[in-house]
Amino acid sequence: MSIPLAILLSAVAMTLIVGVRYLLASAGFAFATRVRHPGLYRGLDPQIAKEIRWSLLSAAIYGIPAGIVAWGWQHRGWTAIYRDVDAYPLWYLPLSVLLYLFAHDTWFYWTHRWMHRPKWFRIAHAVHHASRPPTAWAAMAFHPIEALTGAVVIPLLVFVIPIHIGALALVLTTMTVMGVTNHMGWEMFPRFMWAGRLGGWLITASHHQRHHERYGCNFGLYFRFWDRLCGTDGGLGDFEKERARAARRAGGAGAGAVAGGDADRHA
Ligand SMILES: [Zn+2]
Ligand SMILES: [Zn+2]
Repeated sequence: MSIPLAILLSAVAMTLIVGVRYLLASAGFAFATRVRHPGLYRGLDPQIAKEIRWSLLSAAIYGIPAGIVAWGWQHRGWTAIYRDVDAYPLWYLPLSVLLYLFAHDTWFYWTHRWMHRPKWFRIAHAVHHASRPPTAWAAMAFHPIEALTGAVVIPLLVFVIPIHIGALALVLTTMTVMGVTNHMGWEMFPRFMWAGRLGGWLITASHHQRHHERYGCNFGLYFRFWDRLCGTDGGLGDFEKERARAARRAGGAGAGAVAGGDADRHA
């Protein structure tokens, strides 16, 4: 098989993996949303259809650099990904995961802030914020320019920071789960993960919700480090408001089930 064809097939395979991973994760958490907060996405079907279309396009954009690097890893010995768990000390395994998450978070924070400048917001980031409110399907709803900024991060990091293939799988799983749950409109993690000593440094749905409410704050991805350091941390979002809005979309009937009886207080 010629090399260009092999690379193309690798990119197609990666696109399929990223696309199916997105669909499964989003469908799973959308189902959890139906169970926990029935009616929260009521009336949002046209928006969700757009979120899925943009996300599948993003999957193709993510698949290209990932496919090229995966081919080079398999056939040319590229990257610092290792399979032998003894190649580095055991304590390096969790450290490598943290290094990847922190590096990705840093890249995301600054490119995200840049995309909130008015000109670039219109060009590259308005697509993501067109989800009002975002749903579990909005995890990869990006304009191709934004998708490209996200797609290159891990394929570049694997050349720079050594990582075991299992630790890399953990990084990618974290990326997928947080991408979906940060947008699903309710908090599934226990309180210590979004409030208090530890939670004050971590980003879950509560934190990213506020970014989608106010735009000008909470630009981080996994950690509140850069937001806190740069004075852009706007605290936590208000899920009750969204539930009340969903209840109003439902037009009164069954509204209590959506709003948990809180609709009037927050309307
Ligand atoms: Zn978002
Ligand atoms: Zn944004």
